[in-house]
Formats: sequence, structure tokens, C-alpha cells
Amino acid sequence: MTADWRAAHGLLQRARFAISVPEPRLLPADSGLEVAFAGRSNSGKSSAINALCTQRGLARISRTPGRTQHLVVFELDAGRRLVDLPGFGYAKVSKVMRAHWERALPTYLETRQSLRGVVLLMDIRHPLKPPDELMIAWCAASGVPLHILLNKCDKLGRGPAAAARQLVARALAKSDGDASVQTFSALRHEGLQEAYAKLADWFDLQPPSDAVTN
Ligand code: GDP
Repeated sequence: MTADWRAAHGLLQRARFAISVPEPRLLPADSGLEVAFAGRSNSGKSSAINALCTQRGLARISRTPGRTQHLVVFELDAGRRLVDLPGFGYAKVSKVMRAHWERALPTYLETRQSLRGVVLLMDIRHPLKPPDELMIAWCAASGVPLHILLNKCDKLGRGPAAAARQLVARALAKSDGDASVQTFSALRHEGLQEAYAKLADWFDLQPPSDAVTN
């Protein structure tokens, strides 16, 4: 039986803010299934979480730099959750904070048993910046599946958007991890179905029973 994107759509609509923590060790118990969202600030990570969860105010859009340094947990059901990871490696983040996350995030990726995958947001006009390359390398090294959303594809025509996707796909082919990439627009709600299909797979969601043929 294959995972069903509609089931992921239904699940994410139930997202509720659970807790915001400054350290991975303060996250909820490491059981069930977890999917993390990562991305440079302004890549549209909050907008993507809101679009996928069909809730405008869920992840704060354009959070202040202080709050972006927390891990924010959204509970989906009793055994499944999303974790919005802090931005790291950006100009506005202090050197001390950067060094902290460059240790803490790979440890989280390596040790978090419930982590099924990482969704990495990039602005399609500025893909593969150094922090993105780091996240790709960390996921490959720790064996965590990665799915990249090339967000703001509404800002590019079809040709340039396809070219950006190709460029990233080629970089992923070299990284030898389990990684995929798609174009996405949180603003125009483009690419949602493809993203839900990936999330349905990671969250072990099956089609509703009335959709199953005997
Ligand atoms: P975050 O810092 O990564 O959480 O990014 P935000 O979600 O706060 O978005 C940063 C800016 O990009 C905001 O002004 C959003 O309105 C804008 N934005 C986010 N997604 C899209 C998109 O798909 N298309 C366009 N054109 N703008 C977007």
C-alpha cells in the first residue's frame, strides 16, 4: 500500500503549537515520528509550514532573530509532530550561536530516533548557500532523508525554475544521501501535493480505508 498525500493534508491541518525549546535535549520524548523543517531566514519556512498546515498564523512569519533560535514543536496527532528548526549560519546570528548550532544540529540529526526526514526550504532564486550545503551534508552523513522545497517559484518563469531544480538535483546526486527536490510556492500554494506525498511517506500514512480496493 502506498502512502497517500491526502492523508498528510488531513494530518497537517490538525497541527497545534506544542512547545518552543532552546535546546534539542528539551524536545518532547523521542518516540513516534518527527519531521523537521530547516532553512535560512527569509527562505519562507514559516510561510511553507503555514501553507502545508492550512493555517495562516501557525508558524510566525518573519519571527524576530531571538525567537528564530528556538526549536518550535507542532503536534499533529499523539505520535506525530513537526519541528521548526532554528535558522543558523546567517549574518544576524552571533558567532557563539552559530558555533552552538553547528554542534547541536548534527547531533540532533544523528541521535534523534523518531526523526523521519528533514524538509529544507530554499529561496529558488538563491539555492545552495553555505548553510544549505551544510544541512545537505549533515543529513547525508547521518542517514536522514532530505526533501528540498525550492520556494518562491512564483518569482521565476517555468524555464528558470526547472533549471534551478536541475542544478539542485545534480548537487544532491553528488551528496549520496536519500534526497529529493521540488519547486514550491507557499504564496501561490504550488507544489503542495508533491510535498504532502513525501510527508505521507515519512509519517507512514496509508490511504483512508474507503480508497482501498480489495
Ligand atoms: P522565514 O524567515 O524563512 O520563516 O520566511 P517567511 O515565511 O517569514 O517569509 C519571508 C518573506 O518571503 C515574507 O515576506 C513572505 O511573504 C515571503 N514569501 C514566503 N513564501 C513565498 C512565496 O512562495 N513566494 C513569494 N513571492 N514570497 C514568499
